[in-house]
Amino acid sequence: MKKDTQPAKKSYFFGPGWNDLGKFIKRFWQFNQDDIKKKAEKIETGKGIMSFSGARALMSCISLILFGTIFFCLIAATVSTVLGVAFCFVYILILAIWLLDRINLISKGIFVACPNCKSKYLIPTYICPSCGEKHTKLTPGKYGVFFRTCNCGKKLPSHFLTKRGSLAAECPKCGVSLSGTATKPLCIPIIGGRSSGKTAYINAFSYEFIEKVAPRNGIEIKHYNEETERFYNHDISNDYMGGTTRMTKTEMDLKQASSKAFSFIIHHNKISPDRLVQIYDVAGESFVDNTENEEQLQYTYCQGIVFMLDPLSIPMVRNHLDDTISEIDRSSVGTLDVDLVLDSFLNKIRQITGQSSTAVFNMPIAIVISKGDIRTLDRFIGDEKISEYMTENNLDMDSFTVAEDELCRKFLMENGLASFVSNIDLKFKNNRYFKCSSIGHTREVGRYNPRGVLEPMEWIFQTADSGMKSIWHENKFGNIKRGDE
Ligand SMILES: [Zn+2]
Ligand SMILES: [Zn+2]
Repeated sequence: MKKDTQPAKKSYFFGPGWNDLGKFIKRFWQFNQDDIKKKAEKIETGKGIMSFSGARALMSCISLILFGTIFFCLIAATVSTVLGVAFCFVYILILAIWLLDRINLISKGIFVACPNCKSKYLIPTYICPSCGEKHTKLTPGKYGVFFRTCNCGKKLPSHFLTKRGSLAAECPKCGVSLSGTATKPLCIPIIGGRSSGKTAYINAFSYEFIEKVAPRNGIEIKHYNEETERFYNHDISNDYMGGTTRMTKTEMDLKQASSKAFSFIIHHNKISPDRLVQIYDVAGESFVDNTENEEQLQYTYCQGIVFMLDPLSIPMVRNHLDDTISEIDRSSVGTLDVDLVLDSFLNKIRQITGQSSTAVFNMPIAIVISKGDIRTLDRFIGDEKISEYMTENNLDMDSFTVAEDELCRKFLMENGLASFVSNIDLKFKNNRYFKCSSIGHTREVGRYNPRGVLEPMEWIFQTADSGMKSIWHENKFGNIKRGDE
């Protein structure tokens, strides 16, 4: 119970109220005792109990003890019962208000996903803005219903209705400071081997979404904190403008998290609560070798996964390559086997969730073939190829993503990745294939000109969150063919 003690004043109904009742009963008993004492003294100073008046006094003393005590018990019991019932009523009311708070959190998908230690919880540690004291359970209860009073005297909101989320907060597990604690997180890990194009993808998606998608759809973007704002304005924007990418560092400091989140908050007057987009990036080496410093718990609560697949890491595709590929692209070929990346990923999810090797996962997974600007790919999955396929199959314009999925799958199956494709089908009920080019051309020759980076995320957002679908629906994602259907 000790850890439940909060640095705040208890409400009247827990503690002070019962103290008052105790005091009342004690004082009432005292009155009763005083009366009896007075009567007893009268007998002692009288003519003795053998006299008539003495006997009468004794009788009245006995009846006082008897009836006085009965009377005391009756009154005390009545007062206690009335007060007890009233208090119980208050407790039920508080419980109902607490329940309302919980239901609001759960039904709206509001929770906190720590970007550092990846733990998930409903209520983080909130910090008193006046004295800095930490409140671990800022919910309706014995310290107050809608507000509680910190030991320093500051009134703190303790319910979603009183805007608890506006307080500064930190992670109860690792102590990192948190923002957007009253939002619905949309966590999307980007996975893939080394040089599979994860960082370029995150750069391109974030920039395109924040600078283009948001303004044209009436979405307001808020940065998560000063650090992410700086990261966006310097690292992401500079990479975007210069056509470069940073290598995701393999985190050597064991105290630091291996996978880094880039987060921003989406505000739109059509949806409530705000959405907190958290995009996770982890260095390919730590991912495949399973040497991350922290447990990758985000895979248990993420709304979707983007699996980056570098087509140049496929040996059969490399054989098709001609001289049009630049030296830079040639040297940045992801060397890891995609099967290895998938295996390592599946092992990781199983380890965290404790599920068996036959488990099927529900979260949507977008398999994204990166570096789509390489001309060799055009003859397999180029836009012209997709258009041809649509004409051949009498598909309407809205079916572009359906044709894209079909051709990307076919491309992988025909180039030695048939087992990868069937493995994905087996493990992920909801999978879809995309192609993209994050930079739009060879690295380091001018600003990004991305193609196809928004669609995979838009599909995940639309699949996982109907609210997001109502504010971002620039592409249609028709039903795709799988198995014998
Ligand atoms: Zn944490
Ligand atoms: Zn305080």
